Amino acid sequence: MLDLNEKSRIPKIIAVSKTFKIDHILPLIEYGHLDYGENKVQEAVEKWTDIKLKNNKIKLHLIGKLQTNKVKFAVKVFDYIHSLDNEKLAKKIAEEQEKQNVKPRVFIQINLGEESQKSGITKNNLEEFYNFSKNIGLNIIGTMCIPPFGEDSTTFFSQMKELNNKINLDEISMGMSSDYLNALEFNATYLRIGSNIFGQRG
Ligand SMILES: *Cc1c(COP(=O)(O)O)cnc(C)c1O
Repeated sequence: MLDLNEKSRIPKIIAVSKTFKIDHILPLIEYGHLDYGENKVQEAVEKWTDIKLKNNKIKLHLIGKLQTNKVKFAVKVFDYIHSLDNEKLAKKIAEEQEKQNVKPRVFIQINLGEESQKSGITKNNLEEFYNFSKNIGLNIIGTMCIPPFGEDSTTFFSQMKELNNKINLDEISMGMSSDYLNALEFNATYLRIGSNIFGQRG
């Protein structure tokens, strides 16, 4: 059973709007939803720069891979970065946030399945990487994972909960349209939901 009392906190829903045109997203913005997720920096800049100027309560989350040469633009438009996965990137974000005088909230992406095609810090390196990132000034608020496709996410979600407790972080970004109920049982605090909200992507 879902135990909402364990931390008595209500998870945030990030409406993942990648690939959808702004017209498709506007009704949800007008309704008052504030958290949106995009996986490409360029697309986010084009879609969200003006809207964020008009509505400064909107929070934008980068949920996709971040290349160091795009950090400058990412830090400008995104309030949250869910995909910190290497030291070079960490240093670049630290440098850029200083220059732009902003402080994005950052999640460390963990590669739980240790899949070579997926990004992320391995479990064994997490503590060291967390300390490194914190020491260079990043605002690390939690961890993030994308469980291996086609496998039962339960074992991965339960490991995330343990890892977070171990390094004493509050936020866990996990759970998508197909497995968010499962993620909630393991204290997910940010759910990343796309197709269940906006429909199938083309
Ligand atoms: C696209 C995406 C989502 C949302 O996926 P849905 O299955 O449409 O809910 C969540 N997280 C990441 C990292 C994604 O790229």
